[in-house]
Parts: sequence; C-alpha cells; structure tokens
Amino acid sequence: MTAEPVSGVIGTMRSMTTEQAEPSIFTRIVQREIPATIVHETANVIAFQDIAPKAPVHLLVVPKTQEYANVVELAAGNPGLLAEVVDVANRIAHDPELMTSSDGEKFPIGQFRLIFNTGEAVGQTVFHVHAHVMAGNLQEGSLA
Ligand code: 5GP
Repeated sequence: MTAEPVSGVIGTMRSMTTEQAEPSIFTRIVQREIPATIVHETANVIAFQDIAPKAPVHLLVVPKTQEYANVVELAAGNPGLLAEVVDVANRIAHDPELMTSSDGEKFPIGQFRLIFNTGEAVGQTVFHVHAHVMAGNLQEGSLA
C-alpha cells in the first residue's frame, strides 16, 4: 500500500469532513470537553464569551458542525444555518445582561458589530466558522 503524498494531505486538510478532522477548539466547547461561558444554545448553534475579549462585549456565535471553515463556505453550503447564526447574534444582543460590560456599563440593546474573519491574512485563527458579536462604545472608523 502506498502512502498519500504529503502535499496532497496538506491540500485537503481544510476540506476534511467532520468525521475525518480533529475536533476544533469550538467542537470541544460544544462537547463540553473544555470550559466556556456559554450564553445561548440551540440545536444547531452555540454562543459563548470570547476567551480574550477585544471589546467590552465580545461573544462568539458558532454552528455546532465544524463542516464549514468560514462564512463563505457556510453561505454556499447551508444558508439557513448562516441565517440562524445571525438570528442568535441578534437574540444575544437583545439580552440586557450580555450587553453590559464587566464593570456594569450598559450598551444599547440590539446594536452590535458582526465580524467573520475569513483567512489567516486577516487574523482568522480558528477554521471552524464563527461570528464575533461585539458591542460597547465601538467607534465608526475602527473595527475593534
Ligand atoms: P478568529 O481570529 O479565528 O476570527 O477568532 C477566534 C476567536 O476565538 C478569538 O477571538 C479567540 O480569542 C477565541 N478563542 C480561541 N480559543 C478559545 C477558547 O478556548 N475559548 C474561547 N471562549 N474563545 C477562544
């Protein structure tokens, strides 16, 4: 039996199926293998606090499947699931407790920034699609 060329393996890593791929860090959160502050969950989507917040409110909304590496793949492969991610983002942005900073400052309900990093060159580090939900005195002309 001949081994698959290394270059072929690397080339297909990003498009591996859920069964073949190592669980992503977010799949491990979904499976409760590693802790996270989970704020909302549906059958298909989970939302939790970002471990290293870049804004006073910084949550992640993540499809439970790791089948899609980024929002482009998700939009093409399952637009209904993308709509559910946006709906969950909107729901959590309507939760007054979540729209409050750690020192108690309250931010406008239902107003949030939704960011999907797509690609290493723009800072994507986890290749399991996720939306950053950010709020709290964010200024026009700045992205964080
Ligand atoms: P990306 O840079 O891929 O768009 O965003 C990945 C985000 O996941 C980062 O904001 C990072 O702080 C967050 N993150 C990475 N590892 C963990 C973790 O183990 N737990 C939580 N809650 N967030 C994480």
